Amino acid sequence: MPFCKVCGTPYLKTDGACPTCNALSLLRQQSRQEPGMAPEKLSRERKKSWLGLALGIPLFIIFIYAMLHIMSALKPA
Ligand SMILES: [Zn+2]
Repeated sequence: MPFCKVCGTPYLKTDGACPTCNALSLLRQQSRQEPGMAPEKLSRERKKSWLGLALGIPLFIIFIYAMLHIMSALKPA
């Protein structure tokens, strides 16, 4: 299983790029693409997306380890 050289997140090779870095770059793009937003709303939106990321990354890592566990359990000994 390859590990992202940037953030250290393990990811499946079939996914192509690291999902964590993808999410981060998407987040950066989104915040750049909304210059007309009110600063108050923008900070609220940013907080919301950071919360999603903070919850999403651990969930993704748990998902990968669960997948590995299932795969190793299915393998004949
Ligand atoms: Zn990464």
